[in-house]
Amino acid sequence: MSTIKFLGAAGSVTGSCYLVTSESGTQVMIDCGMFQGSRELQKLNYEPIDVDISNLNGVILTHAHLDHSGRLPILIKNGYKEPIYATEATIDLANLVLLDTAKIARENKERTPLYSETDAEYTVQAMTAIPYHKEISIKDIKFILRDAGHIMGSSSIEMFLDGKKAVFSGDLGNYPEDLLRTTEMLESADTVIMEATYGDRTHSPQNIKQILANEISAVEKTDGTLLIPSFSIERTQELLHLIDHLKHDGLVLPETPVYLDSPMAIKATEIYKKYRNLYSKELGTHALSDDPFDFPALRLIQHASESRKIWETSGAKVIIAGSGMLNGGRIVKHLENYITNPTTRLLFVGFQSHDTLGARLLNSPQKIKIKRVEYEVNATINKCSSLSAHADQPKLFQWLKSMQGVKQVFLIHAEDNSRLAFANMINGFILPKLHDVRSLF
Ligand SMILES: [Zn+2]
Ligand SMILES: [Zn+2]
Repeated sequence: MSTIKFLGAAGSVTGSCYLVTSESGTQVMIDCGMFQGSRELQKLNYEPIDVDISNLNGVILTHAHLDHSGRLPILIKNGYKEPIYATEATIDLANLVLLDTAKIARENKERTPLYSETDAEYTVQAMTAIPYHKEISIKDIKFILRDAGHIMGSSSIEMFLDGKKAVFSGDLGNYPEDLLRTTEMLESADTVIMEATYGDRTHSPQNIKQILANEISAVEKTDGTLLIPSFSIERTQELLHLIDHLKHDGLVLPETPVYLDSPMAIKATEIYKKYRNLYSKELGTHALSDDPFDFPALRLIQHASESRKIWETSGAKVIIAGSGMLNGGRIVKHLENYITNPTTRLLFVGFQSHDTLGARLLNSPQKIKIKRVEYEVNATINKCSSLSAHADQPKLFQWLKSMQGVKQVFLIHAEDNSRLAFANMINGFILPKLHDVRSLF
């Protein structure tokens, strides 16, 4: 009997990690991500990964996000020596993500790091690049990567073993997507293991281009500052590309400076520029005549000292900085500096989990505490949810329905309320819990 063991993101969104064992005993792991969010979840990262590394024949990484890649260095540190398969773009982005994580962990005095920067480097060296659509064998288990359209290089996996086929969704994109090629629909599967992050909701059809144009125009009228907290990978590149269009079309002033205040986002943008073959049609055509992530008023800020110098500049400006949920990073410093000013605007373009500063600000409070200091909130706060990198309920459903012959569906990578809502729409669902071992077919 072939089995699947759930080692993460089973009843929660983060920590993706699954172990497939074929009838003959071949073992393949899919993702080995970090648990993120509450203290309880983060503690799980310190528990040993429940797998015998000497019996593990291969690992497949669906995409670079930390909740899918973040525990891989633990495997390497514990002696894993076989390949980690991923697309070339995923390897480049994972290099950025894992080294940054190890560096932040080293600088954090409150907690013992899970692994060192050297462990992270060895992990990236163990990664083997494979293209989409090519069949790869790990002993008797064969697999093919398909474009999941979620972030650059992201994959779904078609896996063939014991005469049957299992499909792992990876994270599915909010297709059709501005920058990337659309999520690939697959023809058939016996078993599907799929994410259901937004299994309970439909993204509102907001026009992000219009919202962004309004926000920038508003600060241009008052010489104010627009702050946009953003994630480094995908979201930031989407913003830069949108602003490039707005500038070009004369919808905002060409001279208003846009500060990209994040070394990690700057590096991620360089990686996006490298893989033109993965661009959507629109982006590909755009890239033939113009750099789609660059425009004359874009200022790249590397050092923290330069970051503070932005405050000395007068006139309208836009600042894009991390972290996306305001739980640290340079955006918090900018907020402390600008939040009491009535000409400041704050635009959220991503999900804010409930215990973050971002979520508190979304309620438009009159006062807010940031690092124990109380500030009056005079800034105007707005949000746009249409930039989500995840498929919503109708899109998840459409992706699943494109496959024939599906007998069972494991719903993973979701809070229970989301996956329950999605389960109500389909047949043959299973809601696995952490550490469950189930028959794969
Ligand atoms: Zn992801
Ligand atoms: Zn994910």
